[in-house]
Amino acid sequence: MDTLNAPKLEQDYTDLPKSYFSHVQPEPMENAKLVSVNHTLMAQIDCDLNDEQLLDLLSGYLQQVSCDPLAQKYVGHQFGVYNPDLGDGRGLLLGQWRDNSGQAWDFHLKGAGRTPYSRRGDGRAVLRSTIREYLASEALNGLGVPSTRGLGIATSDEPVQREIVEPRATLIRVSHTHIRFGHFQFAASKGAAHMETLLNFVVQKHYPEHQQDSLEDKAWVVLHQACIKTAKLLAKWQTVGFNHGVMNTDNMSIIGETFDFGPFAFFDDFKIDFICNHSDYEGRYAYNQQAQIALWNCKVLATCFDGLLTEEQAQQAMEDFVQTYNRAYLEDMIAKLGLETVQNGDKELIGDLLVLMDEFQVDYSLFFRRLAKWQTDKESELFELIHPEQLPVGFSQWFDKFSVRVEQEGVDLSVWRERILKANPSIVLRNYIAQQIIEKAERGDYVMLNEWLIALQSPFEEHPNLADFQQPPRPYQKGMKLSCSS
Ligand code: AMP
Ligand code: MG
Repeated sequence: MDTLNAPKLEQDYTDLPKSYFSHVQPEPMENAKLVSVNHTLMAQIDCDLNDEQLLDLLSGYLQQVSCDPLAQKYVGHQFGVYNPDLGDGRGLLLGQWRDNSGQAWDFHLKGAGRTPYSRRGDGRAVLRSTIREYLASEALNGLGVPSTRGLGIATSDEPVQREIVEPRATLIRVSHTHIRFGHFQFAASKGAAHMETLLNFVVQKHYPEHQQDSLEDKAWVVLHQACIKTAKLLAKWQTVGFNHGVMNTDNMSIIGETFDFGPFAFFDDFKIDFICNHSDYEGRYAYNQQAQIALWNCKVLATCFDGLLTEEQAQQAMEDFVQTYNRAYLEDMIAKLGLETVQNGDKELIGDLLVLMDEFQVDYSLFFRRLAKWQTDKESELFELIHPEQLPVGFSQWFDKFSVRVEQEGVDLSVWRERILKANPSIVLRNYIAQQIIEKAERGDYVMLNEWLIALQSPFEEHPNLADFQQPPRPYQKGMKLSCSS
């Protein structure tokens, strides 16, 4: 191989002091084969690597693509408890791919093997968790929710021990950044000089218009933007019915993208206090806690800037989080109801609906999608989601109020129906569906995986080929909970 002409990834992370990372080579994956390539993402970032080169990256051989892999050091609060020993334990930042517009995209190899931060872990990833991350990140992106993405997956017959033995796999995660809240916690623990370099690095990378600002102003920009972006992200998670499951501060992106997928779940039936993480005994990361936990995480981030920001500034950033979240959530939710501008009473209308959906265990996504059938001859398909025989009184009162509200909107019902279909997906990556995809992939059949990858990129279209998955799940398929093991 002529390495002079080999494609090359840049590596900006080495601009930071050595304590921020360790140079590590991946543990190659033997007999690796490609499972899936995300051609849509490849095209979006002008990535022209061929399958052989992608497999070279995914297998960790790194002979065809030149790069300088490293494991990042960070710390964080896990389930509310500070852990100074974190870092990339099973992933390596390979470097940055630059698209034709000049935008740099981090490539991170997940499942690359042990690093100095692996603690007792084996540094590996399994096909199951890799597929879940790959599809969920694509699903969120398709729904308009900021998220890291997956460029492709490879697997091999190397065994990895989890609760059972599973096939090894790797994923290339693509993102604007791999800087987490936990990086700032790490900088704060190391002192002012570390904080200064990290702030300069993040501002240069993500807020270049503030490069000439004072360090104090840079700290404000980073904190304030993290709060605003995280608040908007949380509003979207709540609206699409996404349960993250492990909102530790080391799993929070500094630029408000969904980051690190574990036991996540998209809703089947709506349950206000749903806990998707089987190991989350106290419900710290329950659905109805997510926004508050994000705010808690932002408060932890603010403490990192002690000495650079005043207490009033930190307080202001938190207030802006709350205000941004409340406004974005209302706006995103009324859009789901086919409404355009927030009116008095909308908050109560949404609250009342969620209480009813929780009480009657209504399928979250199907309810909103089928709302388009309301006041048509197919209306029964909507109502049977709520109750097989008769619409409960509470719901019929709610529809009466809703009827008045839709009328206020002053648009033709056909226009309103179009809005519903544009705001509510026809397909959702439910856990039972992901499980079917995984079981097939573990047998070497990747057809369903690749079909769903493409479908999730346009979730608001009809997808008649996936009609079976557009029905309410069977009772035994619902509400699947997973543990952190990945
Ligand atoms: P996560 O729950 O995926 O956010 O991981 C929390 C921490 O544990 C991170 O520092 C990971 O790198 C590390 N970790 C998770 N799984 C493994 C593994 N199989 N081997 C080594 N480290 C791991
Ligand atoms: Mg993590």
